[in-house]
Amino acid sequence: MKVGFVGLGIMGKPMSRNLIKAGHELAVYDIVESAVDEIAAAGASREESARDVAQRSEITITMLPDGPEVEAAVTGPRGVLDGAAAGSIVVDMSSISPLVAQRVAAACAAKGVEFLDAPVSGGEPKAIDGTLAIMAGGKQEVFDKVLPLFSCMGSSATLTGPVGAGNVTKLANQIMVAVNIAGVSEALALATKAGLDPEVVFNAVKGGLAGSTVLNAKAPMMIGRNFKPGFRIRLHQKDLRNALLAAESMKLSLPFTSLVQQVLMALMNNGRGDLDHSAIATFIEDMGKVEIKRP
Ligand code: NAD
Repeated sequence: MKVGFVGLGIMGKPMSRNLIKAGHELAVYDIVESAVDEIAAAGASREESARDVAQRSEITITMLPDGPEVEAAVTGPRGVLDGAAAGSIVVDMSSISPLVAQRVAAACAAKGVEFLDAPVSGGEPKAIDGTLAIMAGGKQEVFDKVLPLFSCMGSSATLTGPVGAGNVTKLANQIMVAVNIAGVSEALALATKAGLDPEVVFNAVKGGLAGSTVLNAKAPMMIGRNFKPGFRIRLHQKDLRNALLAAESMKLSLPFTSLVQQVLMALMNNGRGDLDHSAIATFIEDMGKVEIKRP
């Protein structure tokens, strides 16, 4: 297929490489020229704007930081909608507010362009392996057309509802991960302060009800004092902010999400925004004058 890709960052680069590997004809753009050079060297055609990408593509994918960048790249000047033909498809795979996804979808519909929101879970390693979990919102027939591309980038793709549903699902995922990491942080701080070896405690509980993929991934990072991202605190703060905005629009109270979002903001103000989200533990450590590590 003729595919466009806008946004060649940590995630967009490996995802676009997997589309090239699968034999799709790719046109790419990013505001950072060196990123475009890198993917052009892997076989993509180098474009000067999101509009130029869309002009050459049946399906244009965006993978950008947040809603404002998606709106700029799709509906802004020299954006995707300046170049996209009626009947073509825009697939936004960034994690953004579901409300913004619906607004972008409406702008697309006004030009006869179809839209899916399809954020992902799995991070850079799964983007490289092509094993992301993709959660999509939109029409079934549009999803079916994009499915061959999803299968080059992910090991699962699920349509969870109309436009916006993909991002609601992703936000639900992000709430579960963030609140779980906060709980793991407090639990290991307690164990360490009580004089126990946090690794022994981790091994003792991981097979029981407290066991989780989050625990298995993040407890060893806390105990090993390795906060290299992974998934950055500032991106997780953005996701929880988007969850709270969506919740507010439905008059839904999410007290624990709100608390962890405030912790993430405090960590950003302490210069830790680019650490892995497992560094939520350092907030609890600072308050309790304890460091989660083996004796
Ligand atoms: P990133 O910051 O590494 O990449 C974003 C890219 O978008 C950058 O290369 C930037 O130059 C480009 N960009 C920004 N504005 C642009 C514009 N107007 N036009 C063209 N290009 C523009 O971010 P990332 O880690 O690749 O994440 C992308 C999205 O995926 C985010 O929404 C993030 O929350 C989500 N996500 C990230 C991970 C992860 O582990 N990194 C995991 C799952 C989901």
